[in-house]
Amino acid sequence: MYKTHTCGELRATHTGQTVTLAGWVHRQRDHGGVTFIDLRDRYGLVQVVGDPNKPDVASIQDARQEWVLQITGVVRRRPAGAENPNLATGEIEVEVQSCEVLNPAKPLPFLVYKDEDIDENVRLKYRYLDLRREKMQKNLILRHKVVKFIRDFLSERGFLEVETPMLFKTTPEGARDYLVPSRLQPGMFYALPQSPQQLKQLLMVAGVDRYFQIARCLRDEDLRGDRQPEFTQLDLEMSFVHRDDVLQVVENLFTEMVKTILPEKRLLASPWPRLTHAEAVEKYGNDKPDMRFGMELYDLSETFKNSEFRVFQMALENKGVIKCIVAPGCSEFTRREVDDLTELARTQGAKGLATLALSTEGVRGTAQKFIKPEEVEAIQKLSGAKTGDLVLFVADSRAIANKTLAALRLHFRDRLQLADPNLLAFGWIVDFPMFEYNEEEEKWDAAHHPFTMPKLEDLPKFETDPGAILSDAYDMVLNGYETASGSIRIHRSDIQQKVFQLLGLKDDEIQAKFGHMIEAFEFGAPPHGGMAPGIDRLVMIFADEPNIREVIAFPKNQAGRDVMADAPSPASERQLKELHIRLELPKEEE
Ligand code: ASP
Repeated sequence: MYKTHTCGELRATHTGQTVTLAGWVHRQRDHGGVTFIDLRDRYGLVQVVGDPNKPDVASIQDARQEWVLQITGVVRRRPAGAENPNLATGEIEVEVQSCEVLNPAKPLPFLVYKDEDIDENVRLKYRYLDLRREKMQKNLILRHKVVKFIRDFLSERGFLEVETPMLFKTTPEGARDYLVPSRLQPGMFYALPQSPQQLKQLLMVAGVDRYFQIARCLRDEDLRGDRQPEFTQLDLEMSFVHRDDVLQVVENLFTEMVKTILPEKRLLASPWPRLTHAEAVEKYGNDKPDMRFGMELYDLSETFKNSEFRVFQMALENKGVIKCIVAPGCSEFTRREVDDLTELARTQGAKGLATLALSTEGVRGTAQKFIKPEEVEAIQKLSGAKTGDLVLFVADSRAIANKTLAALRLHFRDRLQLADPNLLAFGWIVDFPMFEYNEEEEKWDAAHHPFTMPKLEDLPKFETDPGAILSDAYDMVLNGYETASGSIRIHRSDIQQKVFQLLGLKDDEIQAKFGHMIEAFEFGAPPHGGMAPGIDRLVMIFADEPNIREVIAFPKNQAGRDVMADAPSPASERQLKELHIRLELPKEEE
């Protein structure tokens, strides 16, 4: 070994010991003819002090930031007044007896020892340097702890970790597949799994009973928001279970995990709140509510059924709704501020935004002259709005009103700091619709995935009203993010056929794509269900990071590129030939 101790472990109790350390020069300075270096490794920093006039120590003078050194020296207490209480090793320093440069370093593209604003593409190009920074090391460690906790917790409860193939067949989760051409079978392609969904279900048919995997999922999606083409899920599946059995395992797992590895965080509630999909949308405007704060949506359609406000009347005539949220203490917003909120509402598809300011000097706002005093009273009664508050109304289709108010709610969360960053508001959303109508393609899509069990009592609606069919699907939400999805699965081949047919798949297509699943269900498939929490997103929330790239060692940038290795990149003529592929590239735009 190049070292007897790590840089982070030396304490006053080591005083007098001769130690050998190896690490990077975090910072260095010369002072009174002596060189001071903060030597760093994964475990911490320690101050080493060398006199370059001593022959074995001379090279210390050349050392620059991020050079790799090996140092042998004696631990001594720092002189009184020179201790650093902010550093774990701050009571001591190492008096260097010999210094060897193991490797010099070019000047770095950015400083490792300081948290400065560095362009993300530069960070990603030099990710191996970026990962030297303390914050990034912390994130890697936290992620390791999360995954280890999962492995230990589930193993102790009888779950088997099983690996499933990356080269497989299309496994739909609503995205495009990444395809891999087969060299040995010209013209044929594997698909990389969008999730191990089918394989874990087949493991249940195999009698594995309780399965999990820290699984990589690959989805070729248009890059929007905070997504990565490949990401990691805790994939799990159980046999002979009902919905609540699955929810209980996952709820216990994360409740215990937070207690054990995130003592600074608090759970909002235990047991976790459970909302139906319909309740969540009604109350918070969407199915991934941030429940750390209130500011719920209220439906005022009834209150305004005889309204004289044209905008409200029209919404109701068009079978729409009037809903509101109450922004606490915002009654004195300026015209300009209200205009900005209206602009935000428009980006969500709303035609406009009406406001009522319950100011101390009386009621004001854009809707004030159309709202009668008894209506104001009714609004206050229903929503709890008080003097000093600003009521924001959207009169539109139910979908747009919900979406718009949900966006405004989050806007106020950030603006008024309504959500405690140390609070973890886990919750369950249950009873999702089974299908969603795809207006563009004029067909039904699976709201979760096609292997989800419809509620048995809704089976007759396949013929009459597919949109009203509920399923045994559930989501785990946390602080405004969807952090897991899952469901009880179809284990009967007749129901599976029915679902595929409703999704518009022809019999021969069903056979070609999913014949193996239908057949497996004919060989005694047990009732089963599971889910898949997203590890990247959860670690991101636990680490208080703004995006998942911060908790992935080597992520793609927002354009889906690996800017460090420069991928994707062209394939050679020879590679293409071997794969029987000829390129027909789009013409470059002038
Ligand atoms: N395969 C699903 C997903 O990736 C999770 C599940 O249903 O277990 O979202």
